Amino acid sequence: MNIKNYINGEFKNPILDNWIDNYNPSNGIIYGQIPDSTKEDVENAYSAAKSAFSSWSQTTLEERSRILIKISELLEANLQRFAEAESKDNGKPVSLAKAVDIPRAASNFRFFGNAITQFASESHESVGQQAVNYTLRQPIGVVGCISPWNLPLYLFTWKIAPALAAGNCVVAKPSEVTPMTAYLLGEICNEAGLPKGVLNIVHGLGGSTGQAIVEHPNIKAISFTGGTATGAHIAKVAAPMFKKLSLELGGKNPNIIFADCDYEDMLNTTVRSSFANQGQICLCGSRIFVEQSIYDKFKSDFVNKVKALKVGHPSQKDTNIGALVSKPHLEKVKEYIQIAKDENGTILCGGNEVTITNYENGYYLEPTVIEVQNDNCRVNQEEIFGPVVTIMPFSNEDQVLQMANKVKYGLSATLWTNDLKRTMRMSNQLQAGIVWVNTWMMRDLRTPFGGVKASGVGREGGFEALRFFTEAKNVCIKY
Ligand code: NDP
Repeated sequence: MNIKNYINGEFKNPILDNWIDNYNPSNGIIYGQIPDSTKEDVENAYSAAKSAFSSWSQTTLEERSRILIKISELLEANLQRFAEAESKDNGKPVSLAKAVDIPRAASNFRFFGNAITQFASESHESVGQQAVNYTLRQPIGVVGCISPWNLPLYLFTWKIAPALAAGNCVVAKPSEVTPMTAYLLGEICNEAGLPKGVLNIVHGLGGSTGQAIVEHPNIKAISFTGGTATGAHIAKVAAPMFKKLSLELGGKNPNIIFADCDYEDMLNTTVRSSFANQGQICLCGSRIFVEQSIYDKFKSDFVNKVKALKVGHPSQKDTNIGALVSKPHLEKVKEYIQIAKDENGTILCGGNEVTITNYENGYYLEPTVIEVQNDNCRVNQEEIFGPVVTIMPFSNEDQVLQMANKVKYGLSATLWTNDLKRTMRMSNQLQAGIVWVNTWMMRDLRTPFGGVKASGVGREGGFEALRFFTEAKNVCIKY
């Protein structure tokens, strides 16, 4: 199946007619092609967005909200189709796409459709000076949204929905590795009555299509989720043009387990926080630190549970771990398992590729648990972004806090304890944008989402996202 660009409400081939193969990770087969778009395609998308802006930015909040909620409803009505498309493109179990990815994409549109009707700005009376100030929150104009392959439609819409709600027009690019649901979204937008040109989706490679969006002098803001190195590059390109930037980047998140936790809950959640989506979630707790007194018990129970996870074809109902997203990514994750061995890490389980009958060329890997002796080793410091976690014991709060913070990343942290004072102390000191206590990946879309250090700049979610996608203008009136 050939995917097309979605520009000005129409599906278009790339101008130069160049195409990229699209692989199905579950069997390694090329099942379609996507546009290898150039600067010229991005320019067309920009022109369509620019033409649509004056009308969209003046469309009432009720009308914008109505259209976004309609998109949300249509996504829900097409749940099965979208979930199957996401799974085929990404390798994740259909059950996961159906339970998480697509419902969350629908929630993103519904949430920001509602949020924009509640978004308000401040006014300040300058007492004694006979003046009043009020703040306008105006849409920026044409903005760029660039998203990664791990949660394709989920993260794509997490950017697009607030951008549109705030009155901007968008030029967006999904990852070239997982373009399918973004393509299908175009159809839904037309059906929902989104005016032509308000959203434009251009497919292609990061280094050319993505780069053209970032380089475009009149695309005034970039919301990017992806790797830290790409984020640093984007920041460099965008800085001389003074673009607004929101960067959601990599993570190497600690999962800290104290002996006083609710053990069963912790154990079950830790299996999920380690291996959900084949470990390809920026929020996965990939470094597990366990208090010494329960370390041996945890190690044995955890490894037994992980060994019981079924690696299988994404369409099978009992599959827990589907395929990794691509062959190069599988190779990268395997390299890290070799690095762990070279660094004297102990592979407690997993570590090998899995061959699934009838799908022998798919990209399957066993969930892997590595016991490390030293938290400075590479597998404990570098983002692997696959079904691989490290475990090691700790003896006290200060020591684990120091190890937790001793990485370049700072996206999320998970803490398992029933001690309130410890919870408060640790949450204050963990270097992370999000701290989960006795849970993982519990999301309330009103909360600020993002990381510190090499995990990014800026916050998405709730009114933070609407603030990012608007410019604040102060009007001061003397009376
Ligand atoms: P990449 O950084 O490789 O790519 C992200 C997106 O940027 C893709 O659409 C990519 O296109 C595009 N891109 C690549 N180069 C450029 C460029 N020069 N200019 C503009 N766009 C470009 O990340 P991955 O797709 O590999 O995603 C995995 C990474 O994303 C991990 O590091 C993960 O931690 C991070 N991530 C962070 C999250 C967060 O919220 N903090 C959430 C989810 C993931 P293409 O794919 O076509 O090359």
